Amino acid sequence: MATLHFYNTLTRQREQFVPINPEKVTLYTCGPTVYDYAHIGNLRAYTFADTLKRALAFMGYKVFHVMNTTDVGQLDSDADLGEDKIMIGVRRAAERGEKVTVWDIAHLYTEKFIEDRDSMNILPPDKLAPATEHVPQMIELIKKLEAKGFAYRTSKAVYFDVTKFPTYTKLSGQKLENLLEGVREEVVVDSEKRNPMDFRLWQLDQPNHAMLWDSPWGKGFPGWHVECSAMAMTYLGNHIDIHTGGVDHIPVHHTNEIAQSEAATGEKFVNYWLHNEFIRVDNVKMSKSKNNFYSMKDIVEKGFSPLDLRYLYLEAHYRFPQNFTWEALEGARSARKNLVEQMSMFLTLHEGKVPEDVSKNEYREKFATYLADDLNIPGALSVVWEVVKSSELSVGTKVALLAAFDTVLGLKLSEAPTLYSSFSAEEIEEILKIVNDRESAKKEKDWTLADELRNRLTEKKVRVIDTKEGTVVVPA
Ligand SMILES: [Zn+2]
Repeated sequence: MATLHFYNTLTRQREQFVPINPEKVTLYTCGPTVYDYAHIGNLRAYTFADTLKRALAFMGYKVFHVMNTTDVGQLDSDADLGEDKIMIGVRRAAERGEKVTVWDIAHLYTEKFIEDRDSMNILPPDKLAPATEHVPQMIELIKKLEAKGFAYRTSKAVYFDVTKFPTYTKLSGQKLENLLEGVREEVVVDSEKRNPMDFRLWQLDQPNHAMLWDSPWGKGFPGWHVECSAMAMTYLGNHIDIHTGGVDHIPVHHTNEIAQSEAATGEKFVNYWLHNEFIRVDNVKMSKSKNNFYSMKDIVEKGFSPLDLRYLYLEAHYRFPQNFTWEALEGARSARKNLVEQMSMFLTLHEGKVPEDVSKNEYREKFATYLADDLNIPGALSVVWEVVKSSELSVGTKVALLAAFDTVLGLKLSEAPTLYSSFSAEEIEEILKIVNDRESAKKEKDWTLADELRNRLTEKKVRVIDTKEGTVVVPA
């Protein structure tokens, strides 16, 4: 089996993956702030973490995956400014004339997140951890930081002093001096703060906040960054294999997670930091002014399946920005439909037969080699189409390979509807033979024969579709 390599943001290098404990790979993913629907950028991040987890399983690892839901404490800005996002959810509901509490908002959008996740066949984490259920662990962490001299209290908040942690910017590769100079005067909202980059561990100056907890520093609520550190270490230990998230988390959120965790424990927090790139919409950045934060609701309302969006995500490497357009989603939909229909045909042919062992198959090896190469899913997807089109592989081998590949792709291929139930196995065999003959004719540029074979397929009551992945036939 190919050796697994990842691009590690921390070292800016492609590295061989060596788990701390091969029996249990520990994986943490930053989850949603549950005050609104997840948008397609968020959904890409979750799909990426899902394919990563599935690929690790395909490569033989057992994975323990933790994801948080932020249901308190994330302010509207990375600079410790603005409104708590959950409160924004309450305010927006009030503007729509709905009377809801912070808890209603958190509950509602956690449910919506789970619905979106399940609809895209993203596997649930082993532990989905809501921040509000882990406040004692966060308080313990802050106490440790205070005892070790990394944290200090002002009248407004408890802060982490970034100058006490010498490698504070190691993840982003930025220079702290530049960051400190770059912070504009008006961003500093607390004059007692020692350094502009110091970040909030515990908020004290919002007595009217709807979620408050007692703490050694006074009634308040935790900062956003501290929650991920506390929950990751609660369930995965002080030293974790892989942490994922969007690239937007590199300079602040993940930088702060490392600082807090490593300052508290004196141990390395995470070995491999994997970050996915942004989604752009019609080649521009998603923004409030452009109103292009599409959610799953928008996708489904336009008649697409959540799995069409999943297929679209599989078409791009996670470390490259991906451009979302409705045309691209249409392309993904037709490719997925073709794939499902081919699988349906193979399943009909193979019905009732014993599953084949493909563990040593060369296509499986090729598929794994792409996965091992920093999770090259588009490459792996090309192997899927090679298998579909192959004229050498038996139907039994195709079914077994595609089912194995689908444990990573998550396209529910084995649940393909039996579109071919009205065809006998002999008829399908015959159709497949004509398709293969036609492919060869096309390769030899014998267009007369190719046309003749197309007509024969039409007579068999199937429609021929020439796609960029090759010829597929569907029942007419
Ligand atoms: Zn996080």
